[in-house]
Amino acid sequence: MHYDVIVIGAGSMGMAAGYYLSKSGKKTLLLDAFDPPHHQGSHHGDTRIIRHAYGEGEEYVSFALKAQQLWHELEEASGKQLFLQTGVLNMGHETTKFTQNIIASSKTYSLPLEVLHAKEVNQRWPGITLPKDYIGCFEPTSGVLKSEACIEAYRKLAVQHGATILTHNRVENVSVHKEMVSVETDSQTFNADSLIVSAGAWSNKLLYQLGLELPLNPVRKTFAWFETNESLYNEKNFPAFTFETSDKQYYGFPSINGTGLKLGRHDGGETINPEANIPEFEEDEEDAVDLKQFLNQYMPSTKHLKYGKKCMYTRSPDGDFIIDMHPDYSNVAIAAGFSGHGFKFSSVVGKVLSDLITEGETEQNISPFSLRRFRHF
Ligand SMILES: Cc1cc2nc3c(=O)[nH]c(=O)nc-3n(C[C@H](O)[C@H](O)[C@H](O)COP(=O)(O)OP(=O)(O)OC[C@H]3O[C@@H](n4cnc5c(N)ncnc54)[C@H](O)[C@@H]3O)c2cc1C
Repeated sequence: MHYDVIVIGAGSMGMAAGYYLSKSGKKTLLLDAFDPPHHQGSHHGDTRIIRHAYGEGEEYVSFALKAQQLWHELEEASGKQLFLQTGVLNMGHETTKFTQNIIASSKTYSLPLEVLHAKEVNQRWPGITLPKDYIGCFEPTSGVLKSEACIEAYRKLAVQHGATILTHNRVENVSVHKEMVSVETDSQTFNADSLIVSAGAWSNKLLYQLGLELPLNPVRKTFAWFETNESLYNEKNFPAFTFETSDKQYYGFPSINGTGLKLGRHDGGETINPEANIPEFEEDEEDAVDLKQFLNQYMPSTKHLKYGKKCMYTRSPDGDFIIDMHPDYSNVAIAAGFSGHGFKFSSVVGKVLSDLITEGETEQNISPFSLRRFRHF
């Protein structure tokens, strides 16, 4: 069977791309090793934070704002609530690069941001005990995306627009000859004019087959839910948050519909082979101890651990994304290395990938995400 476009990996980025491609009339095939949304990759655990004033750098702000607009459009098209405007509170020392970037990007882009002293934070959110030398940067217009529901919504709409989604179909081999793409699973071969590789933590192997040896590092990450005092930590009273200590970075979510406060650690993580068995969340070991220590110190009104999960980040060396065309093939687009902060952008990344394939260009500035920063292609 011949397609206009094949998407390898129908997760966060790939499913969004499949939606925009099929909506634009392209005969699109999405192949996934599992059944998205699923718990094997980088998108599970119910929720992801979306922030606009961006700690990782101002170059992300217009991308985040476009992503937010496209999430609203997806809510309208699907009839589902996918975004909760809880606000996001970024806590840390005033002098850190992350905090400085947030404040600077809010000024450059006139984004609403309240910069609060520790005392003000502790009064406004009594569930927080912020040390007096920290500040809080509260962005009231940002919040939480229901990550798995977002992927489900894109999937349903992509199918309605005529996309074919084949689940439990792991791509083993991929090649490009004379502008024709050939993709093999263990049982079938598919051909197409164009290809998108959006295989998350598994990207290295496929990109290597296309002649690219990229410095992508898949790491094991964990996160967990904790019982809370609901009056302090529920989503109506408590924001999503990031929290930078002198040597660690955490993020978390209010208790949404009584699910408990969700907490994870952003920095660190053990390098893993995504094909191998990755250890589950360890309730009595380091995974839980680290998170409990954080809560005891900074959010002491939380209670016992409910349960935790493991997940994967795919880190690039500089923490920035790779969104680009293949340097040798003008019909192959790549989206990889989302380094633990990509979900919020998956709406706009999907649109960009679709535009690159159908138009050969995009309105978004994707130069910060170019492959060329790693090698002279
Ligand atoms: C615990 C955790 C918390 C996070 N928190 C946030 C947050 O608050 N905000 C935020 O913006 N981001 C966050 N992120 C990051 C964000 O979730 C990821 O950057 C994003 O999900 C990556 O999307 P992806 O499409 O690259 O990967 P995925 O969504 O994992 O999709 C990749 C897909 O490719 C498929 N695949 C792989 N290999 C093959 C193959 N050979 N054949 C067929 N299919 C294949 C997989 O099955 C998978 O479905 C977090 C990530 C984690 C793990």
